[in-house]
Amino acid sequence: MSTTADSVLFDPDLWFPVSDAERRGILAAALLQELDGAPGVQGTRIEVGPVGRGYDLTAVVDTDVGDLRAPLWSHVRASIFCDASIHPANRRQLAPGLAVRAAAENFRARLAVPIALESRGATLTLALEKGVERAWIAERSRFRGKTTVTREDRITNPPEDLDLRNLLAHFYTGPGLRLVDSEGNSLLLPAQADPEDGPLVSLCGACHRWTNSPVDACPECGSPVDTVIATRPARR
Ligand SMILES: [Zn+2]
Repeated sequence: MSTTADSVLFDPDLWFPVSDAERRGILAAALLQELDGAPGVQGTRIEVGPVGRGYDLTAVVDTDVGDLRAPLWSHVRASIFCDASIHPANRRQLAPGLAVRAAAENFRARLAVPIALESRGATLTLALEKGVERAWIAERSRFRGKTTVTREDRITNPPEDLDLRNLLAHFYTGPGLRLVDSEGNSLLLPAQADPEDGPLVSLCGACHRWTNSPVDACPECGSPVDTVIATRPARR
């Protein structure tokens, strides 16, 4: 990032007076610079959110085979970043410059995903998190006319004292379930969003702040929160 863009993207006082179009230009240029040398990248642009939530920005990377998108910044973050009543250190933690770096990291992991095409099927593998690979396998089965797609999360270095129920809870995605084992013991498998659906966020009804994780109470004011799955509207 150039010195000027760098300052604007991290300093609310410099960001505030810049026009929306210029801001998007600065964000797109900074993202392109962060992606320097990444395979297939031809350009970057920033898409705005729906009316009333214009700062739900989406970063778009134009590649040789089409567009890749990633959420970049949120309207709530933008409002806090520009809110002079909030401590500057807290505002800087939500800086668009940090969002650009996170988006670049997200894109880099998605820009050259190996796919193995064999007569039997196709396998692709992505790094899901440190020590975990997610493989998608599309396969024609030996049984006539039967084709399957399997999603497999592979743990490369499982700990020795592994509790399989905890592992399941970590990777499970779907609604909360009450599980019952063969001996009649019950336990809760908590609701977990698919990463494609967006993260779980906790919304405070009292101070209208939000937290980027499921929490019991608002860390700002202590009021009860609603924890919801953040979804993105369908692409037009
Ligand atoms: Zn609150």
